[in-house]
Amino acid sequence: MRALLAGARRKQSQLLDLTQKLVLAESPSDSKSAVDACMDLAAVHAKSLGGRVKRHRQRAWGDVLELRFGPRKTKSGPGRRILLLGHLDTVWPLGTLKSMPCRIAADSAGQHRLWGPGTLDMKAGVAMAFTAIELLTEAATLSSEIIILLNSEEEVGSPVSRPITESLAQQCAAVYVLEPAQNLAYKTSRKGTGNWRITVHGLAAHAGVDFTRGRSAILELGRQIEKISAWTDLDKGITLNVGTIGGGTKTNVVPAEAWAEIDLRVAKRTDGPRIEKRFAALKPTVKSGTTLTVGGGINRPPMERTRGTVQLFRRAQSLAAEIDWQLTEASTGGASDGNFTSALGIPTLDGMGAVGEGAHATHESILIEHFAPRTALLAAMLAT
Ligand SMILES: [Zn+2]
Repeated sequence: MRALLAGARRKQSQLLDLTQKLVLAESPSDSKSAVDACMDLAAVHAKSLGGRVKRHRQRAWGDVLELRFGPRKTKSGPGRRILLLGHLDTVWPLGTLKSMPCRIAADSAGQHRLWGPGTLDMKAGVAMAFTAIELLTEAATLSSEIIILLNSEEEVGSPVSRPITESLAQQCAAVYVLEPAQNLAYKTSRKGTGNWRITVHGLAAHAGVDFTRGRSAILELGRQIEKISAWTDLDKGITLNVGTIGGGTKTNVVPAEAWAEIDLRVAKRTDGPRIEKRFAALKPTVKSGTTLTVGGGINRPPMERTRGTVQLFRRAQSLAAEIDWQLTEASTGGASDGNFTSALGIPTLDGMGAVGEGAHATHESILIEHFAPRTALLAAMLAT
């Protein structure tokens, strides 16, 4: 670990350069050409490190990049092949760099940070993975194949990369996710997510002349919201958030239509289908005279804290201890592509990317001092 840490320190400015290069190539999920241009940079860099590049071409979304390093695996089964999961899309629209320039500057506490859209989530993590592989290649300790998969649409739920992620994960013994740390911790569990939209159709009527003939969609929606919100069970890690609502036209009209959008988080895999069934069984309350349409479902299953994941974490913890770093583990309500691989039973360790704050926020930035030790640990985890 000490040698890897020294190596990572020597490469720190190069690592910063690579991160900045990726950040300067703005890549919102919904702009295929922009995401593709960022993928081009990653592909060129991978080739310069001796990587084998496979481009999964996409029509609507940016291309997905599969990069392989180290010896080609000839034996059957996963062997010790490892999958590194990252994404190059961001939530930031083109032109964000004008208001959030990519720059290195100290924060109010005097800590040096790299600021900019997509630094923390998660171009720094991708740059760390490349640097870790470079360290191992130079030390000639890359003994089994490593795959880096760079997705183009993670921020919108990975609609096209999911099957690629899942099939590659099944060829691997472990999955490391390059998403940001939780404070300093690695993530050993994540909640699963689901989304629904419910629409209520009622009957419009004059609120003064014909009130009793009207069937209020908003009143009915209110009842449904009460019902759905009551499914929240904090002890079990189940939350339902009605995040947006809409409906009605004028105050003097009984509203004919109303809708709501709901976000679900579950900690246990078995809870997802249970809530799905409840949504499917929603009915208008008695005598309301309205109808209900319900659409949606589970997007990402939870990443549970499995034995395999805990084993990976323990190994990372003992490696970190060699450089006097007390690595801790954390769980989060946010989902990542690691949720997919973990649900397939493949040991998955997440949060192995950068340390910082402000993912999806205007103060998005990473702490530069954590770059070297975390890259060294990533390299050590790929070597052992
Ligand atoms: Zn991310």
